[in-house]
Amino acid sequence: MISLGIESTAWNFSVGVVDEDGVIALAGDAYRPKEGGIHPREAAQHHAEVAGKVLRKVFEKVSPEDLDVICFSQGPGMGPCLRIGATVARAIALKLKKPLVGVNHCLAHVEIGRWMTGARDPVALYVSGGNSQVIARKGNRYRVFGETLDIGIGNALDKFARHLNLPHPGGPRVEELARNGKRYIEMPYVVKGMDFSFSGLVTYAMNLVDRGERREDVAFSLQETAFAMLVEVTERAMAYLEKDECLLVGGVGANSRLQEMLRIMCEDRNAEFHAPPREYMGDNGAMIAYTGLLMHRHGMDVDVEESHINPDFRIEEVEVRW
Ligand code: AMP
Ligand code: MG
Repeated sequence: MISLGIESTAWNFSVGVVDEDGVIALAGDAYRPKEGGIHPREAAQHHAEVAGKVLRKVFEKVSPEDLDVICFSQGPGMGPCLRIGATVARAIALKLKKPLVGVNHCLAHVEIGRWMTGARDPVALYVSGGNSQVIARKGNRYRVFGETLDIGIGNALDKFARHLNLPHPGGPRVEELARNGKRYIEMPYVVKGMDFSFSGLVTYAMNLVDRGERREDVAFSLQETAFAMLVEVTERAMAYLEKDECLLVGGVGANSRLQEMLRIMCEDRNAEFHAPPREYMGDNGAMIAYTGLLMHRHGMDVDVEESHINPDFRIEEVEVRW
């Protein structure tokens, strides 16, 4: 079976085509804000403008008639952006008379991570712009065992980078700066139960820069502190749930220091550390196509009339039938 998936929750309009054996095609076009962070309406406008071009690129590799199912990212995400992906998916499904599947974006990050790495039953650390969650399967649902109480770690890094006048996305820039950090500066470490918070930490870091601390040292200390919080909660979830695999997914997962810290934690506990290739870490259409294919095979299609987007869609809401 061949599945097409459309991802459009935030910065990327991406279309992927997969079958059971692998990714057949993947194309996308990233929205880059001229200044500031992601503006939902501008990002949606971008997605609408590039949709045709991205689809044409994919259809150079796969013929539309060969598709068996059409999938789209149903949420969570920015309403105006989600609506573009959903509308394009509905149009293709109706035109080709193919079934439609609405996919939870967080679930898709986890499932493509498992697919690409062979992880069976991991505790997943999902770290992206808007989301930061520690997720594991319990029965026929994925559950969130810990999450951010305010902004996602990606947003936190982007916000800090903007304060230094670095362009969006800031995460990779902060990573570069942090490599040249020499001194660790103590910062607020905010873990409450199994949840964490980044908003106060970023304000603290921005104030340090304003007071004249070396930006490299602040970037380094910000990463060390924020990542330690994430690794602590991930480790605690692994211990409580007695799971011996850790899976890192989401755009921030590309960060080498975060990978290194998780790898060390896993070695200490005799657990396996898994991370998919970079291309499939951040938001991409292949993860929607793959997860939609799983859902389709388990009778989880949706009627076009019922295929509303859901900006607050939680991973727990989806029954996992596989
Ligand atoms: P996603 O929404 O899952 O595609 O993730 C996007 C987020 O990942 C943005 O906030 C980026 O700044 C962040 N990001 C990408 N690469 C890195 C990196 N190397 N280190 C830290 N954050 C990153
Ligand atoms: Mg994401």
